[in-house]
Amino acid sequence: MSGARMRFGLVAHRTHRQDGDGALAGWARACEGSIRALNLGLHAVGGTYDALVRLGLLAGHAPLVRLPTGVDGGVMRLASSIAGGLAPEHALDGVIYFMDPVDPSSLYPETQALKRQCVIHGKPFVSTAAGAAEWIAVECVHAGVGDAAALARPLAGQTVALIAHDALKPRMLEFAADHFDLLSRFSARVGTGTTGGLLNELAWSRGWPADTPWVTRYQSGPMGGDAQIAELVLDRCCHKTIFFEDPHVARQHEADIQLLERAVCTASHDTTCFNSPAMAERWAAAIGRATAP
Ligand code: PGA
Repeated sequence: MSGARMRFGLVAHRTHRQDGDGALAGWARACEGSIRALNLGLHAVGGTYDALVRLGLLAGHAPLVRLPTGVDGGVMRLASSIAGGLAPEHALDGVIYFMDPVDPSSLYPETQALKRQCVIHGKPFVSTAAGAAEWIAVECVHAGVGDAAALARPLAGQTVALIAHDALKPRMLEFAADHFDLLSRFSARVGTGTTGGLLNELAWSRGWPADTPWVTRYQSGPMGGDAQIAELVLDRCCHKTIFFEDPHVARQHEADIQLLERAVCTASHDTTCFNSPAMAERWAAAIGRATAP
């Protein structure tokens, strides 16, 4: 994702785009300087593009492109573009999607396929208002331009959830081992049962006090752990969810996984979610640089 200018898909559901103090407008205003400094390509689905124009946001930002509306296939085209599209100039590096979980289109197959293609291709899928601001700061740190203030918020005082599907559990252990000190800066870590157990073994092997779990474990995911962590998110008691999803298997607890993702979007201004190792690694590298002593 380096070299040529980055391009992101952009979608905002109706509630997030209808007025000048909505999430889309707040993000475009707060991040305008960074978006321009990055010269960030934004391929916006029709209604989202039209809202930016109507609200006078990102005026004259040349790499802002209008795609068809959702009903005319704009979100379907984004899914193709994440997979590489039909021509190199259509390929996208990630998606910022201001999602409203009670907007029916949040459940459309193309919305789920778009997220899944992001996970498969290791490209960021950013679904909350807090995440959209944070991700612009991540890209600014990597590019060495713009404003990284959104990454400066101390991790002390925040709780992070760590969850991995079976095929991704080794990858989660590797991520936790590589970023143990960073993850230990959070006030608390929570996790689903099996992932949390493995992470505690790792922490104890690294000298974490034997009588203290590094991760507070809830039920195993299929037994309701995802739903328990979703409730923490809804209570604003979990601020970041790092969820290494396996997109390649049938998941009997798909409903629980989506419940957690929808809870994250319900707490849009207060929480962020990373659903692939690539996304978590890119954040970790940026925050390491942004907060280096
Ligand atoms: P587990 O749950 O950590 O208990 O395996 C993760 C999941 O499958 O959601």
